[in-house]
Amino acid sequence: MKILGIETSCDETSVAIVEDGTKIISHVLATSLEIQQQYGGIVPEVASRKQAEYMIPVLHEAIKKRGLTIDEIDAIGVTVGPGLMGSLMVGLETAKTLSYIWQKPLIPVNHLIGHIYSGWLDSNATIPPQFPLMAVVASGGHTDVVLMHDHGQIELLGATRDDAIGEAFDKVARLLDLPYPGGPQIEKLAQQGDPRAFDFPRPLLHSQDIEFSYSGLKTAVLYETKKIDTLTDQIRADLAASFQQAAFETLVIKTMQAAKRFDITSLLLTGGVAANQYLKSMFISYAQKEIPHVQLYTPPLSLATDNATYIAAAAYFTQKASLDPKINEQQLAELEPNPSLLVTDQL
Ligand code: AMP
Ligand code: MG
Repeated sequence: MKILGIETSCDETSVAIVEDGTKIISHVLATSLEIQQQYGGIVPEVASRKQAEYMIPVLHEAIKKRGLTIDEIDAIGVTVGPGLMGSLMVGLETAKTLSYIWQKPLIPVNHLIGHIYSGWLDSNATIPPQFPLMAVVASGGHTDVVLMHDHGQIELLGATRDDAIGEAFDKVARLLDLPYPGGPQIEKLAQQGDPRAFDFPRPLLHSQDIEFSYSGLKTAVLYETKKIDTLTDQIRADLAASFQQAAFETLVIKTMQAAKRFDITSLLLTGGVAANQYLKSMFISYAQKEIPHVQLYTPPLSLATDNATYIAAAAYFTQKASLDPKINEQQLAELEPNPSLLVTDQL
């Protein structure tokens, strides 16, 4: 079964065709990131305008230029939330229109659940993820640890109480005069720094829950920068490395504790922050020591960041939510984006 996936929740416009939830047939992505960088962050109005500009060319390239025909597509999967309202609307309205014109079912997808399905697309994995699966979604807007008992059976084990981990990277990057998005910049700068140079707090590290807190850590970096007269390149690198170490230690150690508490078979790390190689190697080395019996999934950068491949994969595995224009015409017409969906919200 081939599903055409559409993802427009933020600043990426992405269309993919995925077979049986596991094989990528076609994938095209355009992003307004370079334009957003001029503003030092995402401007929702700019993001949605660019979505509208890129949508049709990206769709066209994903289908026609790959020599595919519409007859070959069985259904359409689309992100309905969470994300920016204007950006989501572009993808969802496009998907609804295609569903009507082509008379093919539309499968609404929760973007956060979508991220998890990057695990099924990872061609480096020897076997697909098995349940019970624990997933860590570490992104610009979320820091969620979820337990998946089966497709469509998701339990939220814990999340951040304040800032998301990616948000903390972006804010600390600004303190260090680094451009947006801050994550990759901090990772690069940290390579020149000493992760033990500054002893930043590890909030909630010893709490019994699976919750995180990143806003205090960000403030600790702010106070440290205020104490220093001249931020030399070496001090900036030390600050970046020490911040990164503190942020990841809490994420990894608490994930390992949670993984031990629940009898899981697979553990997956995804979201934009999972693009960080230092996090990936820390995650793998802790897991090998602490939970050697658990199968690990750390999808590559191309799958971890926002894209339509995992939206199409998620649509394949969550077909219960499918809306057929021949049967559910009214529901399809009323389907609206939901910018504030939670990871546990089923569609
Ligand atoms: P997402 O919300 O999934 O689109 O991911 C975007 C977030 O991931 C932003 O907050 C980025 O700063 C962060 N990010 C991207 N690459 C990295 C990296 N290499 N290290 C840490 N954070 C990153
Ligand atoms: Mg995301």
